[in-house]
Order: sequence, then structure tokens, then C-alpha cells
Amino acid sequence: MTISTLFSADYSQSRQAFLAAARDAGATVVPYVNPVGTGPAGEQLATDVASLGSGNNGPALVICSGTHGIEGYCGSAIQTGLLQQRIFDAARESLSIYLVHALNPYGFAHNRRVNEDNIDLNRNFIDFTKPPQRNEDYDNLHEFLAPPKWDDRQQADIAIADYVGRHGMDKLAAAVTGGQWHHADGIFYGGQGPAWSNRTWHQIIRDHLAGHSHIAAIDLHTGLGAFGYGEPICIASSGDENGTLARQWYGDEVTVMADGSSCSAPITGALLSALTRPLAAPFLMSIALEFGTRPANVVLDALRADNWLHGQADNETPLKEDIIRAMKSAFYPDESEWREKIWLRGREITLKAIGGLMAFDQKTAD
Ligand SMILES: [Zn+2]
Repeated sequence: MTISTLFSADYSQSRQAFLAAARDAGATVVPYVNPVGTGPAGEQLATDVASLGSGNNGPALVICSGTHGIEGYCGSAIQTGLLQQRIFDAARESLSIYLVHALNPYGFAHNRRVNEDNIDLNRNFIDFTKPPQRNEDYDNLHEFLAPPKWDDRQQADIAIADYVGRHGMDKLAAAVTGGQWHHADGIFYGGQGPAWSNRTWHQIIRDHLAGHSHIAAIDLHTGLGAFGYGEPICIASSGDENGTLARQWYGDEVTVMADGSSCSAPITGALLSALTRPLAAPFLMSIALEFGTRPANVVLDALRADNWLHGQADNETPLKEDIIRAMKSAFYPDESEWREKIWLRGREITLKAIGGLMAFDQKTAD
């Protein structure tokens, strides 16, 4: 296997490579087709679940890609590499393995982080029977984060720089990335109801994950942290709020979303939070694996530009190609050093997850 061949040029190519690797590894694949329509090249948009393994209700490993659309290039490459290298062959007698490919296929195909409704899927898993929380810090920044004209945004940039000068970059990150539910034309928008990908993820939980005694979940992301580094962020670990068990599994570099040690600000409505509600497996270990790309201000500007572009009634503008290039650079660097690092780290963390789950299987067998 050559590492560079894992990294595709578009969603379609990623999907075909994943499906071929799944077939060669003997996996069963179930597609969940997004009814929104086709991708930019007329391709079907679907979330595919490849299943391998024991098929019993024992320990299960689930690895998700493309929660944030364009970040799926990275996650898909890791999933395809794991299948091609037969990483699961030794474990599949004891474990069930589920690779969930492109949870947000629309965003992936259109090189966007958000979905077909401008929703950040990882802020969409909230209880919509209650009024969503108000993010007043975001409210105050919205007009600057989403300026009406991208090529005339100097005042907006000054206002944001002024905010950082007064409050610091961490406060800006918390205000912007924490999530907001009141500006449908803004960034990090969590929506007004469960998105298609949200409903699909719940269907995948019912179809595949319910009933397993132990679940380890890994959600693959890019865009935060140091270039090429993969930070394991503990989202939930049964009976262990401090991440102690997560560190035993994944190493001392584990950070915890809730305690401020992570490269990510605490967020509301994350995908993996859905595993703790309807599922309630006796044991759950869920992490996000976040791969760093560019400096935070560069990533933020790519997102602002993309948001502006898609807010236009007609998005055929001379800026379009530059904006898509900036998005790809921010979430999918075209550099072999970065790609090699994320593949090796993705494999390393997967092997650690398998080790953690196998220990449970061993205890059960004893
Ligand atoms: Zn992400």
C-alpha cells in the first residue's frame, strides 16, 4: 500500500476507494442515501457503514469520518488504509467493527464543513424539545464573522482583531466554535432540528450498535491543533470523568473536552454525545481524534469565506476557486508529510482502541 493513494481528490473517489477496500476485506456494507440530491458531479451522496467481525453482542469498535464534510478526506483515507492493511483481521473473531464513512456526504462532496442546511453537524445533537441555549458572545460577533461582502471586510477583520486584543484568542475560539443556534446564515450553526445526518446516525446506532456490551468510538476530525499532530480528545469514558482510563488506552497525551485541556473549546451538541443517550451501552469509551492543519486564524478565515460564498444567491464569483482552495488547505493539506503523519497516527490510535476492547473480551472470557 502506498500512503499517497489513500488520499482522494473528491468525495466520489474517496467513496469508491472505501467501498473497494471494504469489499476486498470481506466487510458487509449498508448505504444510507441522502435524499437531498446528488453531488457536484452528479454522484449519489451516501453514508456507508462497513461491518466486519464477530456479529455477537460483545465489544464493538466504531470509527466515523466526515462528520464535518470536508474533514472526511482525512478520515476516509484512514478508514480505507485500515481495511487495505487488514488491521482488523486478528481482532474480528472477538470484536465487531463498524466503519462509518462520510456522515455528512453533502459537505464532503461540496468541500464544506457544514451540511446541506448550513448546519454544523457536531453542534446538532442537542435536545430540540427545549429552546436552544443563547450564545451571546457569538451574537455580538456575528456581523463581523459573516460580513456581507467578503472582498470588503476590512472593518470586520479589525473588529475581530480588537476582540482578540481585549479578550484573547481562547475566548474568541470559545465564542465562535462553542456553537450557536440563532443565526442560520452564520458559522458553527447547530440548526433548529435534527439534520438528516443526525437522524441517520441514530438509525446507524439502532441498526448496528445497540446491544453491544462495550463500545469504543472514534470520530475523525481535522482543523485544530499543531500541523500533522493527532490529538485524542476524550468525549466520554464510562465512570471516568477525568480521562484516566482513556489515558490508559491511548496514552498520556489524551486531553479531555470538558476540562479545558483540549485544543478544542468545550462544544455543545457533539455527534458522540448521542451514544450516551439512546444507546447507554454498559461501557462506552468515545474520543475525537483531531488532526491539526493550519493556524487557527487561517482556518477561521477559510470558514468565514466559505460561509459568505454559500450565502450568495449566485455563488459563481471569481473568488470561488480561491475559497475552495483555502478550505481544502485548511482541512486537507496537500502535503505528503501531513498525510503520512495522519495515516500513521490513525492506525496507531485504532490499534490502541482494539487493544482496549480486547482486554474486556479477555476478562469476559476468563
Ligand atoms: Zn471537525
